[in-house]
Amino acid sequence: MTEPRLHAVVGDHVFDGAAVHERAAVIIHGTRIAQVVPQADLPRTISVKALPEGAWLAPGFIDLQVNGGGDLLFNDQPTIEGACTIAAAHRKFGTTGLLPTLMTDSHEKMRLALRTASALVGREPGVLGIHLEGPYLSPEKPGVHDARHIRRPTADDISMLTAPRNGVLLLTLAPEVVPPGFIAQLVAAGVCVSLGHSMASYRQTRAAMAEGLRGFTHLFNAMRPLASREPGPIAQALESTDAWYGLIVDGAHVDPAMLRLALRGLGRPLLVTDAMPPVGGSRSSFTLHGEDITVWDGRCLTDEGTLAGSVLDMATAVKNCIRLLGMPLPDALRLASANPATSIGFEHMLGRLVPGYRADLVAFDPNDMTVLATWVAGNGDY
Ligand SMILES: [Zn+2]
Repeated sequence: MTEPRLHAVVGDHVFDGAAVHERAAVIIHGTRIAQVVPQADLPRTISVKALPEGAWLAPGFIDLQVNGGGDLLFNDQPTIEGACTIAAAHRKFGTTGLLPTLMTDSHEKMRLALRTASALVGREPGVLGIHLEGPYLSPEKPGVHDARHIRRPTADDISMLTAPRNGVLLLTLAPEVVPPGFIAQLVAAGVCVSLGHSMASYRQTRAAMAEGLRGFTHLFNAMRPLASREPGPIAQALESTDAWYGLIVDGAHVDPAMLRLALRGLGRPLLVTDAMPPVGGSRSSFTLHGEDITVWDGRCLTDEGTLAGSVLDMATAVKNCIRLLGMPLPDALRLASANPATSIGFEHMLGRLVPGYRADLVAFDPNDMTVLATWVAGNGDY
């Protein structure tokens, strides 16, 4: 057996997930991080990739909500090839780990998507599992989900969702449409449960959290709004220390003032793209269950003007955190790496550049967030 390759990446600014190290080197041993050292301490014999002057090196971005990329919609092709195309498209923008996201669809399509994700985990390290967004959603908050497939869970669904699998299974549901105990049953089987497309009241959200729900999918969008006498899911998310919430920071989905409010919550904010096929692709339109969606002024819109996902990529989301929300760069980077890693239980292996963690890195120019290079499990692309 050959010894895993030892090499190093050196940069002017290395953010390890907690602190910035100036003129540092990340030593990679095979698929893992061996050490972060000052450049001056690097052994002379080691092979080195030097980044351009001023570049930053940080933990690779992790995106928990990716409907598509590279001109492909996961619902149209929930296969190994489909998921790999999407992962490759997003890698150009610094994403080194993602969950392909299947929006509300048939039982058969869900089964196929679950099989695909389970087969890919371990083979394609950029795919961490799967996100099923729906189908147990509120008919009052369908967004652009296919209303024909929105439904309540059956016994068949429960056995499909709790069957043994590889990788993460994140399920977005509306707690008010599933029976009591359903969330607890999923959580006991290792499923991460998140609230979304929901009209749940504050009390219903609290009950769901007592069963183990921890996530809030694209907070603010497609859920009961904050109101004085019915605070709904948003208040519960912001006041719970163990909640996490996905934010779409594209300037279109949520007003920056509301996003700044979310950042003051007690829970864990994280960036998601909710990306559609045009990200990393060449076409500016696509079809979503038969309906034409056009990219217009940086938004994906139906003919009626409803938002249908985004054309956001993670590097731009980080840039928007700085420009629209006034966040320091390291804080924005944490929202794109350590926070999503922790939310899906990968805080022991992803989201930081420390010894033993998987060598998932992104190198970028901090002036415009242009991605210069990425590494996934030690394999570079530059
Ligand atoms: Zn959604």
